[in-house]
Amino acid sequence: MPTSAVDAALAEAHAAYTARNPQSLARHQAATHVMPGGNTRTVLYNPPFPLGIARGESCYLWDLDGHRYVDFLGEYTAGIYGHSHPVIRAALTAALAGGLNFGAPNTMEVALAQAVCDRFPSIELVRFTNSGTEANLMALTAARCFTGRPKIMVFGGGYHGGVLYFSGGENSPVNAPYDFVLAPYNDTAGTASLIDQHADTLAAIILEPMLGGGGCIPAARDFLAMLRTAATRYGIILIFDEVMTSRLSPGGLQALHNILPDMTTLGKYIGGGMSFGAFGGRADLMAQFDPSLPNALPHAGTFNNNVLTMSAGLAGLTQVYTPEAAIALNARGDALRTRLNELCQRQEVAMQFTGLGSMLNVHMTDAPLRSAADAAQGNQALRELFFFDMLAAGIWVARRGMINLSLPLGDAEGDLFVAAVADFIQARMVLLEADAGAA
Ligand code: PMP
Repeated sequence: MPTSAVDAALAEAHAAYTARNPQSLARHQAATHVMPGGNTRTVLYNPPFPLGIARGESCYLWDLDGHRYVDFLGEYTAGIYGHSHPVIRAALTAALAGGLNFGAPNTMEVALAQAVCDRFPSIELVRFTNSGTEANLMALTAARCFTGRPKIMVFGGGYHGGVLYFSGGENSPVNAPYDFVLAPYNDTAGTASLIDQHADTLAAIILEPMLGGGGCIPAARDFLAMLRTAATRYGIILIFDEVMTSRLSPGGLQALHNILPDMTTLGKYIGGGMSFGAFGGRADLMAQFDPSLPNALPHAGTFNNNVLTMSAGLAGLTQVYTPEAAIALNARGDALRTRLNELCQRQEVAMQFTGLGSMLNVHMTDAPLRSAADAAQGNQALRELFFFDMLAAGIWVARRGMINLSLPLGDAEGDLFVAAVADFIQARMVLLEADAGAA
């Protein structure tokens, strides 16, 4: 039995969704026979069952029952180019024509490495991996081997991959068995004292310069500056996980803040939509992996330099997501966020859109948000309802409220999104008053 007006509305939304999506339900039921919970990527599960997507084109997705959505999720930042971008398609077609799986170095990896080193100021040398998770594991390994120290400082609400998961504000049973020191994000004094306390045993400090999965919460500049100063003082390797945030300026958030880490990890869109990860940074740190040197650290990976990823990534970074395109896309994101927040303020609702540039996240609270713990204070049931209302309005966002712009999204789509949010406020915010009245 629903206990509140919001819960009752959610139950209704679930019923309408189930009735509207029989093919997705059938797909999900078949999937449960061969994958636990019918799922192979946890974030893509939502009750009562996730929608199955049949195809995508430009900024649109179509589900198995034929409904069209405007894609405001952009594959959790990996889909910056939209679906089937002609330049990426041409690069992939050319790569396929030349053959795959050489078991040898190729020229594309040199060109992509050059493009990455040119773009991101902290990266003097780079190595490729197959995922952001792997990139972070290798960066942490590089830091531990370089310093000869065991511990790694991470932050509550941080996410660095499937086995580096701190989104719940604590270590997770699935995490790689490192010796972690968990610090409070954006708490400059608290973190500084933890660094002082563990300085002799800390190999690395790793953080996202804006929490991505943790709700698009930017790090304050003074917090990042303190980390830079403390890491330098104690010889700790500062790692920026820019797997998501590298898109936020031509040179990532590090360039925007002009605060350079010792190492940077990348992923998502930089592979042009193919599986991708990279770690890079100071030449002396990365030289540990130079196989021509005695006692070099090994770094393996069958698909590290696979020609599909190298080709799509190079075409994307040099021909499509150019520095000019990055500036323009982030300006559009800032304008959209301003419009949405003005709407929330005008309607005097406890709702806001956080983030920077082309990454946004909705939160059902009007309190200032500086950490994932702050964000957890928002009304989660209402945000769940937001997800279902957006789907019903033909808008694809993350269940946790994440929104990422892609290049093909235009002004008309932005207007559609703002209108859907206005409808949500009109229809749903009264439910909170009903619940408050009943309490
Ligand atoms: N770091 C961050 C900040 C991420 O957002 C992600 C993926 N969401 C990862 C690392 C892991 O990347 P992948 O999923 O490619 O392993």
